[in-house]
Amino acid sequence: MKVAFSTLGCRVNQYESEAMTEKFIKEGYEIVDFNGYADVYVINTCSVTNMGDKKSRQFVSKARRENPEAIIAVVGCYSQIASTEVSGIEGVDVVLGTRNKGDIIYYINKAKDEGKQQVKVGAVLKNKIFEDLTIEDYQDKTRAFLKIQDGCNRFCTYCIIPYTRGAICSKNPIKVIEEIKKLAENGFKEVILSGIHIASYGDDFEVEDRTTLVDILEQIEEIDGIERVRIGSIEPNFFTEDVVNRIFKLKKLCPQFHLSLQSGCNATLKRMNRRYTAEEYEAIVDLLKSRIENVSITTDVIVGFPGETDEEFAETYKFLERIKLSKLHVFKYSPRKGTKAESMENQVDGNKKEERSKALIELTKRYENEFAKAHLGKTLEVLFEMASKEEGVHEGYTKNYLKVEVHSDKNIRGQLLQVKIVDVKDDMAIGELV
Ligand code: SF4
Repeated sequence: MKVAFSTLGCRVNQYESEAMTEKFIKEGYEIVDFNGYADVYVINTCSVTNMGDKKSRQFVSKARRENPEAIIAVVGCYSQIASTEVSGIEGVDVVLGTRNKGDIIYYINKAKDEGKQQVKVGAVLKNKIFEDLTIEDYQDKTRAFLKIQDGCNRFCTYCIIPYTRGAICSKNPIKVIEEIKKLAENGFKEVILSGIHIASYGDDFEVEDRTTLVDILEQIEEIDGIERVRIGSIEPNFFTEDVVNRIFKLKKLCPQFHLSLQSGCNATLKRMNRRYTAEEYEAIVDLLKSRIENVSITTDVIVGFPGETDEEFAETYKFLERIKLSKLHVFKYSPRKGTKAESMENQVDGNKKEERSKALIELTKRYENEFAKAHLGKTLEVLFEMASKEEGVHEGYTKNYLKVEVHSDKNIRGQLLQVKIVDVKDDMAIGELV
């Protein structure tokens, strides 16, 4: 039997697809490309933008064309938020919500045996139970993502995630450490801890024996074989003085943090319901830069949020110019059905969003080039994680996530090697093995 996956959206979805893949492999399935014949198609959907919904529907039609007899399962955020709509799509056999992915094989078999559609979408808003999925090995990768947290209770006004992913919940810390040890045994040198709102890891545990994200990071220091740990996108407020004092001592934690900013203007941040001011964000950036050597800080910025005037955007631009990060991910605001921001007044014209996005893309090119140039002449440790792009050319990342290219005739994939940075091309450092 053949199964094909299509995964939309974030790293958490990617993790969950990998975990489902392992379940299928254990059941004897062969994993095949989505653009071809399979007996089962799994579409792991995203609902962050309205486009995610549209794409998910397109994937269902595609799977149906590839094999009209196949079992098609639609799982994840889109089926969670719109289960009636998804189950009404012609040809869908299984519909599972965000916390029912572990049961996928059971429902696929049930749909096959009973010849009728199976829908299992639990209520998530008050569900504090973490769905335990595990991954021991990754298909074709040298670093592993590990989902340790789910859900979000922040309710930013533009975001649908709290409604699709539900209440915050965390993976049992003992299981987190066990899973990382298993990955280390399978040869992984780097793990990336991720979640929907990873800063709230542990907030759902009893206060008396609460394990926090920093506790987990400290325990990973003791795991043989794991050389690097990264944490996924995180709220700036996580970095209190105490947290920085503790993580500063960790040898394996990579000095690379993605701190969501979204806007550098306090009025815009307030309308977004972000719970920090631009000044607080800047203080955290300063603290990290002053305490952690070679730290790289990247961020997300949304342009054209409802009510963002030229003056407000100028404030964001000036703010970003001043605080100097390593990279910006720029998003043009797009209204998401079911969120507060969708019905806010003064929606911003598409041309304005385009103009503002271009300005920030120019700024990030400058940031990225300056970040790469700051490493010229230095010798750094690089993990070569990708297959060779072309004969003899290899790419990898430093601890602070600088992309490095080297030439070598050897197969260096999966190895941690010392590299001297000798040149820079745009955002890419060119190095020589030492
Ligand atoms: S913090 Fe805000 S943007 Fe991030 S998942 Fe939660 S609600 Fe969405």
